[in-house]
Amino acid sequence: MKKIVTILGARPQFIKASVVSYEIAGIPSLCEVVVHTGQHFDENMSDIFFSELGMKPPDYFLDIHGGTHGVMTGRMLIEIERILLIEKPDLVLVYGDTNSTLAGALTAAKLHIPVAHIEAGLRSFNMKMPEEINRILTDRISKWLFCPNFVSSEHLRREGFDEAKIIPVGDVMFDVALHFGSRVSEQGGALNKFGLLPKKYILTTIHRAENTDNHKRLLVIVDALSEISKSIPVVWPIHPRTRAILDQLGLMDRVGKSLMLINPVGYLDMVQLEKYAALVATDSGGVQKEAFFYRVPCVTLRDETEWVELVESGWNLLAPPLNCKEIVDAILFCLVSRGKEISPYGNGKAAKLIVDKLNGDLYK
Ligand code: UDP
Repeated sequence: MKKIVTILGARPQFIKASVVSYEIAGIPSLCEVVVHTGQHFDENMSDIFFSELGMKPPDYFLDIHGGTHGVMTGRMLIEIERILLIEKPDLVLVYGDTNSTLAGALTAAKLHIPVAHIEAGLRSFNMKMPEEINRILTDRISKWLFCPNFVSSEHLRREGFDEAKIIPVGDVMFDVALHFGSRVSEQGGALNKFGLLPKKYILTTIHRAENTDNHKRLLVIVDALSEISKSIPVVWPIHPRTRAILDQLGLMDRVGKSLMLINPVGYLDMVQLEKYAALVATDSGGVQKEAFFYRVPCVTLRDETEWVELVESGWNLLAPPLNCKEIVDAILFCLVSRGKEISPYGNGKAAKLIVDKLNGDLYK
């Protein structure tokens, strides 16, 4: 029996892991030990995903959150090392680009445990983003680089990675979306709860440090969304960090009365909100892609995006939040626009390809 230790900590990682853990559980020669760092810990940022997506509870919960990047990552390194020394896995599996990703990869690499990185090769080319630093370093010390799209494999080739390490498999988020997207209808759920009509509202999410920690940008976003919400309902499941900053800055009063700030929702409610939105406005990587999975136009409130094929095909418009009127205009423009048909994220079998490859290589 070969043992995989999976390191998780943030909302999108729970979602991605759900399909991969399911595939691992289906292979008798593999076992998985899940370590949850605690980076996201609230019921609606963490637990709900384990129950909704049918995942077994984590084997270890480290309860590490808050503090500076150094404090958080440092504490994770200490605790993950302790666990890896006990568990002695054959492989460590990490996802995406959070501090939990980097801490898991770095600890394993130093102990000479091979690392598999799911969602490898993404680049924003903006080294101010903590995510960019985390993903570049994680790629560098991983043995298996599972790429979600063509662009990410090309980045790794250009950076000189050994071809054998670059494994294009498609996007596990697409696997999850195919599985759950078809189960969600416009009946009940969040639409009913918040009185929203299909295709008659905008869904927004904001959590990137470049927007929340830059108060001018955050103000532009709040003002633009408040303005738009006068003509079409805007629903905003707000990330706890973003809410805390709005509170701290006393910006809550500035949020227009018609802008619906709600607590973060579970995955099934989120899928419904995405699928039936007229438009999505977001700075989230995952939400940009999910908008496309449901063929909903998206305005991305950032300076750049990793998912460039969505911009090139016309599904996604990049709108840096620098000026309120420009954001309002971008949203109004995209409300009536559609992109070209493309299918860059595989065939919905990424998780199976990943686990088959790992199983094969571990028994070579
Ligand atoms: N998500 C969710 N509930 C919410 C907001 C987001 O389930 O209230 C899901 C969303 O569907 C996507 C993932 O969380 O699958 C995206 O996570 P996030 O935006 O936090 O991170 P990113 O994708 O930017 O790394």
